[in-house]
Amino acid sequence: MNYKESLHNPIFEIISQASKELNVDSYVIGGFVRDLILERDFKKDIDIVAVGSGIELALKVSDLLPKKPKVQVFKTYGTAMLRFEDTEIEFVGARKESYTQDSRNPIVENGTLEDDQNRRDFTINALALSLSENNFGELLDPFNGLQDMKNKILKTPLDPDITFSDDPLRMMRAIRFATQLNFEIEENSLQSIAKNAERIKIISGERIVDELHKILATDKPSTGFLHLYKTGLLDLLIPELTALNQVEEIEGQTHKNNFYHTLEVVDNICPNTDDVWLRWAALLHDIGKAPTKRFNKKQGWTFHGHEFLGGKMVKKLFERLHMPLNQKMKFVQKMVVMSSRPIVLSQDIVTDSAVRRLVFDAGEDVENLMTLCEADITTKNPAKFRKYHKNFEIVRRKIVEVEEKDSVRNFQPPISGEEIMEIFDIKPSREIGILKEAVKEAILEGEIPNEYDAAYEFVLKRAKKLGLEKVTK
Ligand code: ATP
Repeated sequence: MNYKESLHNPIFEIISQASKELNVDSYVIGGFVRDLILERDFKKDIDIVAVGSGIELALKVSDLLPKKPKVQVFKTYGTAMLRFEDTEIEFVGARKESYTQDSRNPIVENGTLEDDQNRRDFTINALALSLSENNFGELLDPFNGLQDMKNKILKTPLDPDITFSDDPLRMMRAIRFATQLNFEIEENSLQSIAKNAERIKIISGERIVDELHKILATDKPSTGFLHLYKTGLLDLLIPELTALNQVEEIEGQTHKNNFYHTLEVVDNICPNTDDVWLRWAALLHDIGKAPTKRFNKKQGWTFHGHEFLGGKMVKKLFERLHMPLNQKMKFVQKMVVMSSRPIVLSQDIVTDSAVRRLVFDAGEDVENLMTLCEADITTKNPAKFRKYHKNFEIVRRKIVEVEEKDSVRNFQPPISGEEIMEIFDIKPSREIGILKEAVKEAILEGEIPNEYDAAYEFVLKRAKKLGLEKVTK
């Protein structure tokens, strides 16, 4: 099979020329070839293998390019990188790898193209296209990766037990690729992941999270999370989620399975947001439910305070997985803590003041919160489904109305503490706090508009109850 016509990027001709001058064979390999054949959106980076020195090849390529781009050399890894237009091109010498028990970093020796293909994680990632002049564009496919692509199968080139045990990150990659490409994981490989799941412990949190992000960024993350669950990986990585996978029955009363519900919520939110952090919030929105679950005869199953506890659990989980403890974490926490607020609204008559309070508390994130809560409607009762969605439409409309009127989203008090001090000629004191809080409450309750004059009149009246009089100068 020849893919000469598909190698449009002029860089391939240049690499071919450089290879000829150095008298080494070179190949484009891995993700680029896979995505070219699958006709997926083209990725930005290109991986080149030279049967010889990758660094020398990169330097030669740069030399042949009119702009002579800078070559970044990573001597320890024997790799080099240069940028051509907006593409990163990685060069590496063909290598043979062997692994030790306690590290995913192999011992590396120079090798042939076949050695290099052997060390690849999946048959579909081991495909190479020749860049040598005599067979430019020819496909080298020692493991029948092309056939696996047609059958939509993800399979390791060598014994999966060795592949996954050598570098356990590949287990996450298998599940990620299966989710991204909508491929099945071949049965042997899947069983091997389950067998080697514990090995994931030698992988750093950052790398694991990177794969989780990629799973969450797909159109149907539930596929990946189900694989993670069935292979035992999820229990090792996010036990907070697997704890949700139970349905108990007491006195004939059951509660819903919150694990499968969560996966449905994550899938539901995908068409409505690409923000991976909002997707994380969908994934974690119910994690407080397992530890707060109670049963009593009067109310049946309850999960009191699960949102608040869930918020605390988010922080612990982020710490454990080495995720950033920054604004993104705070955002996920806020979404989890507030995740029931609009739902409570949507089950009742929607009042202006309830919406105003929601906007006040959610601030800039109110639309994201609404998106999360809409995704959270997984009821199979069509009448309820319609009712909740309709009420959310009303909530969304009211959010706009309330914002036009009172602008409480980034609430700034219409009257400041200094102004209050001046009106009554008082020093900083408790009374100022009381008055400011009263103004805020009056605005949120809709008693007064969010304007200076109204707030001024209100403060005068309210201050009388505190024994304060306006001072005329
Ligand atoms: P994506 O960019 O979507 O992650 P990719 O396949 O290009 O896909 P990279 O991480 O850039 O992924 O890796 C490039 C190639 O290197 C892969 O196609 C594969 O052949 C090989 N590779 C990457 N990581 C591993 C690994 N952990 N074990 C074995 N081979 C790997």
